[in-house]
Amino acid sequence: MNVCPACGGALVAGLRPWHVCCTDCDYEGSTLTPHILEQADGGDLDEAAREQGLAHLRKINFERLFHWLSQHTSRLCGKPRLLDVGCAHGWFIERAASRFEVTGIEPDAAVAAATRARGLPVRGGFFPDVLTPAECFDVIVFNDVLEHIPDINATLAACWQHLAPGGCVIVNAPSSRGFLYRLSRQLARLGMDASFGRMWQLGFPSPHVHYFASDNLARLAGKAGFVLEAQTRLPSVAVRGLYARIRYSREVSAIKALTLTVAMTLLAPFLAVLPADIEVWILRRPQRD
Ligand SMILES: [Zn+2]
Repeated sequence: MNVCPACGGALVAGLRPWHVCCTDCDYEGSTLTPHILEQADGGDLDEAAREQGLAHLRKINFERLFHWLSQHTSRLCGKPRLLDVGCAHGWFIERAASRFEVTGIEPDAAVAAATRARGLPVRGGFFPDVLTPAECFDVIVFNDVLEHIPDINATLAACWQHLAPGGCVIVNAPSSRGFLYRLSRQLARLGMDASFGRMWQLGFPSPHVHYFASDNLARLAGKAGFVLEAQTRLPSVAVRGLYARIRYSREVSAIKALTLTVAMTLLAPFLAVLPADIEVWILRRPQRD
């Protein structure tokens, strides 16, 4: 990777050998490779701790996201068709089913099967491979997913193909302008790598390969024929479930996780007013191209 996927500028070495930065826009990327299909038996992470740690925050955020999305799709009549790419346990499609006709796609076969067993319409596999060429949606959602997909331009082009005119893509992803992310970058510059590696999910089965900000996401959207219509923020930290969330990488010791939990709990009220670490963007396919 040596050209910025957003602006075509040169990508130069970042803070670590796997980290790259664009010289012309704020895009940041990584050369980390996913190994989601090659995990050890039982997974590389503590899945029970992961689910417990994320459940509370995800449910709060999905509730907010659902209401925000409903406002931005209020002009659509009937039950608009919604595709959730990388839907995992199906929490978002479960919430959205009252307003939308929902479909999920999940690459992890075991997670997809477990979600289907709960009665949710989930296909196992990858976007857009599991869709027929003619399948069309009004909304395509990426909840913590787009930052894991290497070929972002091909993915957005596929979204355009599978969206009805006037439809939209929802990108819910970590922001390179976020306070915690920028703090982790400063710490990495001082030789303290742990939080920076964690932000990129270094060593995880599916690490982050992009960090977006509004300007480079607007450029990416424009290349695929979309317009960046609106953005909002979501909390990145909930005190409830925080210890389990920190502990779910098995490399973090109990004492370290406890120290981090206390520090983050004290920081939590300030995070609400500092630059957001999780942002949501709406990319609209114009009614007429
Ligand atoms: Zn760039």
